[in-house]
Amino acid sequence: MKIPAHGRSRADVLGTLDAYRAHDLDWRDGRTFAYVYDAGEEANSVVRDAFASFLVENALDPTVYPSLLRLENEIVAMMASHLGAENAVGSFTSGGTESILLALKSARDHARRTRPAVIRPEVVLPNTAHAAFHKAAHYLGLEVRVTPVDAGFRADVDAMRAAITDQTILLVGSAFSYAHGVVDPIPAIAGLAREKGLLCHVDGCIGGFVLPYFRRLGAKIVDFDLSVPGVTSISCDLHKYGFAAKGASVVLYNDPALREAQIYACSGWNGYTIVNTTVQSTKSGGPLAGAFAALHFLGDDGYLALAERMLDAARRLRDGLRGIGGLYPTSDPEGNLLAFASDEVSVFHLVDEMRLRGFYVQPQLSFARSPATLHLSVHPFAGPQVDALVAAMRESAEAARALPHGAIRARTHALVAERSGALGEADLGELLALAGVRGDALPSRMASVNELLDALPTAAREALLAGYVNALYVHREPAA
Ligand SMILES: *Cc1c(COP(=O)(O)O)cnc(C)c1O
Repeated sequence: MKIPAHGRSRADVLGTLDAYRAHDLDWRDGRTFAYVYDAGEEANSVVRDAFASFLVENALDPTVYPSLLRLENEIVAMMASHLGAENAVGSFTSGGTESILLALKSARDHARRTRPAVIRPEVVLPNTAHAAFHKAAHYLGLEVRVTPVDAGFRADVDAMRAAITDQTILLVGSAFSYAHGVVDPIPAIAGLAREKGLLCHVDGCIGGFVLPYFRRLGAKIVDFDLSVPGVTSISCDLHKYGFAAKGASVVLYNDPALREAQIYACSGWNGYTIVNTTVQSTKSGGPLAGAFAALHFLGDDGYLALAERMLDAARRLRDGLRGIGGLYPTSDPEGNLLAFASDEVSVFHLVDEMRLRGFYVQPQLSFARSPATLHLSVHPFAGPQVDALVAAMRESAEAARALPHGAIRARTHALVAERSGALGEADLGELLALAGVRGDALPSRMASVNELLDALPTAAREALLAGYVNALYVHREPAA
C-alpha cells in the first residue's frame, strides 16, 4: 500500500474512517460488557473536545507547556486524595500496564540503590494478579513468584509469606482483580511487606477509582489504598471507571524517594536532554486534558451516581444469571465485575450465542483453580439491559446445550500427554484445523478456538496466540 499520491478532502477522509468502523463492536447500545467505559454522551463529548483541544501540545517537556505540568499535578493530587494519601506523589501514564511497569521499575531501581545484596530481584504475585505484572517483569528482567489464592480467588497471604526469599523486593495485591472482581486482603499483604522490609504495590487499575464510591454506597470493602500501613504504591486507571479517554492512568507513591527511582534521565547524547517520568517521551497533552475534563465534568457526585447504577445493575445481573444453564458465580465480588462458570454448558458457546443475540460478554480461559468463565464488566447504563441480557442468556444456554463440545479438548489433552507437553508444529496444525482455523481465517464462531486454547498448557497457548497475531498484523487488500 502506498501513501495516497494526492491529499483527499476532509469529508472524504473522515467518511472513510467511519466506513472502516462498520464491523466494530457497537458499544453505544449498552450491550457490550467489556472493553468499554462510558459515562454517557454528554460526558463523552466534553472529554472528546478537551482531548482534541490539547492534541498537539507535547507533554515531553513540562517547562515549555506549564499547562500540562499543572494538569498532571492536579490530576495526581485528586487521585492521591481519592486513594488515601493527600500528600502522595505520582505520575500520569498511558494506562494500567504502564503504571504497573513503572511501579515495578521503581521497585527494581530502589532496590538497586538500597539493597545491594539483591542481584536477581523477585516479585511475589497472587495468581489472580493482572498479566501486566508478568509483562512488566519480562521487560524489566525481574523474576515472578506466583502464589495460589483461596477458594474465593483472594490472595493467600500465607502462601505469599512462603514465597518470600532474600531476593524479594515487592509484594502485589489487587483491588479488585479483573478476572473475579474481588479485593485481596490488602492490610495483611501490606503488613507482611512491612514486617519483611519489602515494598507493596496495590493494583487498583480497575477497582481503585470506584471502590471508594462502592464503599460510600454501603458495600463492605477492606482497606486497600495508600492509607494502609505498608502499601507503598498504587495504580489506578482513569480510562476505566474514571471515564476519561483511553491513555489515562496514574501510579502513586507514599514516598517521593520511590518515585524518584521511576524517573529516567539521559544527557549522554547531543540532542535535547531527556528526563522522562514515564515510558513515553513525546506524548500528546490530549489524555491529560481528557482526564481533567472527566473529573471536573462528572465530579464526585456524578461518579457516585454512576457507581450506584453499576452496583445496582451488577447485583441484578448476578441474581438473574445464576442458575441459567448451570451458571454459577465463581466469586463474591465487591463491585461490578462478574464471573460465571458452568458445569452444564460450555461458556465459550454461551459467548458466541450471546454475540448472535447482540451482547458481548468476555470469555476467560481456565487457569490455576479457576474454571473457564464468562466475564461481565457492568457499566453504568447496563440497568435497562438486564432483563434482555438474562433472556438472551436463557436462549443462549438452550442453544449451547445442543452444540458439540469436548472433542477438541479431548484430542488436545491426548496430544499433550503423548508429547509430554511439547507440541510440535504439526500437532498445532492438526489442532487448529480441528478448531476450524484455516490459514489466518478465524471461524465465525469462536467456541472451538477458545476450547482449544483452554485445553492447551499456558506456554502453548502463548505461542499459538503470538503466531496468530504475528500473522494478523500484515496488510492485505480486502476482498472486493
Ligand atoms: C485493565 C487492568 C490492567 C491493565 O490496564 P491497561 O489500561 O489495559 O493497560 C491492570 N490491572 C487490572 C486489574 C486491570 O483491570
